[in-house]
Amino acid sequence: MAKAIIKDRAAARLHAGHPWVYRSDLLGFEGAAPAPPAPVMLADRRGRSLGWADYSPQSQIALRRLTAAEAAPEPTWLAERLRAALAYRRRFVADSDAYRLCAGEADGLPGLVVDRYGAAVALQTLTPAMEARQPEVVAWLEAELAPEVIAERNDTRLRQLESLASRAGLLRGTTPLAQAHINGVRFEFDLLAGQKTGGFLDQRQNWAAAAAYARSGGTALDVFTYQGGFALHLARAGAQVTAADLSRPALERAERNALANGFDGVEWIEANAFDLLRHYDESGRKFDVIVLDPPGFARNRAALAAAARGYKEINLRALRCLPAGGILVTCSCSHLLGETAFLEIVLAAAADAGRELVLLERRTQSLDHPVLPAISETQYLKCLLFLVR
Ligand code: SAH
Repeated sequence: MAKAIIKDRAAARLHAGHPWVYRSDLLGFEGAAPAPPAPVMLADRRGRSLGWADYSPQSQIALRRLTAAEAAPEPTWLAERLRAALAYRRRFVADSDAYRLCAGEADGLPGLVVDRYGAAVALQTLTPAMEARQPEVVAWLEAELAPEVIAERNDTRLRQLESLASRAGLLRGTTPLAQAHINGVRFEFDLLAGQKTGGFLDQRQNWAAAAAYARSGGTALDVFTYQGGFALHLARAGAQVTAADLSRPALERAERNALANGFDGVEWIEANAFDLLRHYDESGRKFDVIVLDPPGFARNRAALAAAARGYKEINLRALRCLPAGGILVTCSCSHLLGETAFLEIVLAAAADAGRELVLLERRTQSLDHPVLPAISETQYLKCLLFLVR
């Protein structure tokens, strides 16, 4: 059995509820060499037990704690955590057969992501230990959910940090296309071609929240639409929707989904959002509702200043395209940019546009992506809804 000795500051972090131990806080190992997926024991310098963790030989996040208990995890711990994750979704997910079934650390399963899309499931294993447990995860999914399709999306760049190979494909079933019903809207996802594992399920409840402010016959603009998550919900509310994205394949899927729902009034535009918003602003075009859901502009701290300029630019342009009484739905999925900092950027844009904002709702990701305040990384999505005056 391997025993990892860690610095006091790492022990304090664990005590506060954050499961990660950085490599720089790892003093060394006692006993046998660690061999993932076997959990290693954690101890401080005085030999006090701090629980058990998965070890990652390559990553800067060397250890991810699985339990604070002194006893080693029982062989059944993986199935128990998966069962708890499923029970949480059964309790908190309504009106959707697509949801994140397991959200890694937020479900006590570090490095494991499982998304459900109706009768299909897509998974990612992001650490060597979880990769080794993938067959056990697949067996559990088959026994509990009997999915028609299981896809692995182990082609995320996160795996590079662990020196894990990039791989994507079907483990079960014959098609990557999955049908789902979200808030009463039909979607088809491609589990092997889409971003993330197919769709942005974290925006599921925000799609419905935004659409609640659309008026039948009013106009709406969704500029980073991807496969039309916001756009389809706005169309269902009766709005005349213009939706744009840089990605032609995403727009094609969005359009197919619109037609499958009988929403034939959406205008799909392949465009750069910055250019499009500038054009609408300069030509005096107005919309009753504008949704901004860009990709994360701040991937690291060095990118924060440029990200702030990007967020300010699109928010400023959007505000100038909203009449008094218009609704701005503005999102940021950059974990490094906190809600207060994001709000300040939007406020600065409003000041430059000479507009006053009423904050209607401050939202985050859907409940199937649990927020654990002790693990700040689990709260990454900001979705602010404003009335513009
Ligand atoms: N709103 C979507 C998710 C958006 S993800 C939903 O709720 O499902 C971000 C999207 O922005 C991606 O589809 C990406 O193709 C697009 N994108 C990135 N940069 C862009 C740009 N400069 N202009 C337009 N779209 C862009």
